[in-house]
Amino acid sequence: MTMFIHLRHLVFTVLAASLAALCSCQREAGRTAADTAAAPPATVTLTSLDTDSYDKRLEDALLEAEIPHAMGDRIRSAGKAVFLPELEAAAAGDPFLSRLVDKQHALPDGYEPDDLVTLDNSGSYRVGRAGLRLRHPAAEALERMAEAARAEGITLTASSAYRSYDYQAEVYARNVRESGQKTADRESSRPGYSQHQLGLAVDFGSITDAFAQTAAGRWIAANGPKYGWVISFPDGYEQLTGYRWESWHYRYMGMPLAVFIEKWFDGIQQYALQFIHAWRNY
Ligand SMILES: [Zn+2]
Repeated sequence: MTMFIHLRHLVFTVLAASLAALCSCQREAGRTAADTAAAPPATVTLTSLDTDSYDKRLEDALLEAEIPHAMGDRIRSAGKAVFLPELEAAAAGDPFLSRLVDKQHALPDGYEPDDLVTLDNSGSYRVGRAGLRLRHPAAEALERMAEAARAEGITLTASSAYRSYDYQAEVYARNVRESGQKTADRESSRPGYSQHQLGLAVDFGSITDAFAQTAAGRWIAANGPKYGWVISFPDGYEQLTGYRWESWHYRYMGMPLAVFIEKWFDGIQQYALQFIHAWRNY
């Protein structure tokens, strides 16, 4: 296990270095009025932070984000010179890539991305139904990932993608009607609190636990982060994320952030986003 973790860190460190250049030229995402009004600061420019200030801010952010001790110790012992540039790279660019959206943190009122594109069956992935939409950078990244899967004989199917506030309201109300509020809240978000409203999240395949055991489910679990896609609600973290295990739900985070999550936060997206949120709002 230890060997595996070390190997994984090594792999992602190498990936981080080789992909940083690739990602810095990523297309600047479209902005809406809501972004400028309510978005968090776009970058974390703190390379000039002196070591004492860094240490204090780090401790406060680790505490506020409730980062487990072992995870925090790894970050502490890496030191400012190593960790801070990687944090800055992970949180740079489009602020919605690293925005914390969970049961306590809503999107800006009326948020709707302005670079949504419609997915179809012309590329390497399949769509579960017509009219699914994603933000442009996520759609491109989905194609890159699906192309790699296809090269290994595996087809990825997007079953649900962008959901507007109004559509999420319908989905949530239906889930409450059919399963009761308590069950609905374990796997469905209230409107305004869904990662699907970001236009950066995809539900793959059957949208059931069975997906985890399919070839596509296993492939994406092993390879998603290499293409910037990270599972949002992993097995065993319901208390942290507020949602039961959803083997089918992945969020596109961009490469620097996906690498950062794998390397420092054991692949747990929620910890990394809570940490970045706490760091930004210091
Ligand atoms: Zn989902």
